Amino acid sequence: MNTQDINRRIRLIMDLRNKGITDTAVLGAMERVPRDKFVPSSVRDQAWEDMALPIGRGQTISQPYVVASMTAALKISDMDKILEIGTGCGYQTAVLARLCRRVYTIERHKPLLNRAEKKFEELKIRNVTAIAADGMKGWPKINGIDQAPFDKIIVTAAAREKPPQALIDQLKPGGMMIIPVGPSGDQMLKLYKKESDEAYSARDVFPVRFVPLLPDIASDDEAA
Ligand code: SAH
Repeated sequence: MNTQDINRRIRLIMDLRNKGITDTAVLGAMERVPRDKFVPSSVRDQAWEDMALPIGRGQTISQPYVVASMTAALKISDMDKILEIGTGCGYQTAVLARLCRRVYTIERHKPLLNRAEKKFEELKIRNVTAIAADGMKGWPKINGIDQAPFDKIIVTAAAREKPPQALIDQLKPGGMMIIPVGPSGDQMLKLYKKESDEAYSARDVFPVRFVPLLPDIASDDEAA
């Protein structure tokens, strides 16, 4: 890493601190995960700015401030098993992977998933399991093995009205889920806590702009 690179990283972390992110484990993880390796080369210059960037297929990598806020809200422990919906370029996954035991991540665009998996390999991130599927249905049973329930769930695409029931079902009692909810232009980031098998509480975090959660695996020619 050259000096300019180190300075850019430090500047972003200071920027996040100034914006109110105080969780040092989250800040440390974001200083170490090379965001520039996850974005397309056309926008690599902006990788260490606090902004969302395009990653192909009409999708975006979230703004670092949003990644930091969502990650911090989940109060992750190194024993946690986390489900992520919306792998995208894999950046948020990589941040989570530094903080928890294992991340299970689902993406509906196969080309994005393949690229993300290559990054995990390159960066020797080994505690991630990634599949192409419809994350609104939760993590599927694979070869007869269930991974649910999860300690934490993070959804990085917006549900139109409420979190998919399958995701609430796959959350452990005491577990937390962070998810943007609302139609395009009027979304709120929400933190759900599953108090028991039947009861959960929810609180608003802040307004956000995410791409929508869409059903089914994307076809190769889906409009980007
Ligand atoms: N966390 C990502 C952000 C990606 S944008 C990153 O750091 O890059 C949201 C992603 O959610 C998109 O890649 C989109 O294809 C995906 N997505 C939308 N609906 C989905 C669904 N039902 N299942 C899985 N992924 C979905």
